[in-house]
Amino acid sequence: MVIKKATKTKQKAVKKVRPKKSNTKKIVAKNKSVKKVANNKSKIAPYKPKKNEKYMSAAMKRHFIAVLLLWKEHLREEMQKTFDHLRTKGETYADPIDRASQEEEFAFELRTRDRERKLINKIGISIEQIKQDEYGWCESCGDEIGIKRLEARPTATHCIDCKTLDEIKEKQLSG
Ligand SMILES: [Zn+2]
Repeated sequence: MVIKKATKTKQKAVKKVRPKKSNTKKIVAKNKSVKKVANNKSKIAPYKPKKNEKYMSAAMKRHFIAVLLLWKEHLREEMQKTFDHLRTKGETYADPIDRASQEEEFAFELRTRDRERKLINKIGISIEQIKQDEYGWCESCGDEIGIKRLEARPTATHCIDCKTLDEIKEKQLSG
């Protein structure tokens, strides 16, 4: 099975503590420094299956529930930060350029929040699937999605082969 290498570990965890009401005047340096939707579930070490351990054993399931919960919590914090930020930065600037960049920034943050909300939703579904014993199998072909892929993408619902195939089809349809 081909496993795509996780390319997203680069994004460093954004500082945990939000500054206490400091009037952070600096405009979040041009979106780029703002982290994309948090991929941060790296605080739990990857699961090491025992010899002959069966796929999605009870221990494995516990592991992924922990991973998903932590991720969700992290996203919630991120959303709260965005929310606080939007609220505290509600003032309007006189300078049209400042205003324009502020609006751009707000729009960006709203999109981020929306993505985070969707992701939190997906995480909830995955947790539910674990409880129902339906987690970890490809929804298209029924094969194991595989631990490696799930570590990189705990909400994955398809194996890499089906996923790749889907993407190719999508490209053909849109191209
Ligand atoms: Zn599949």
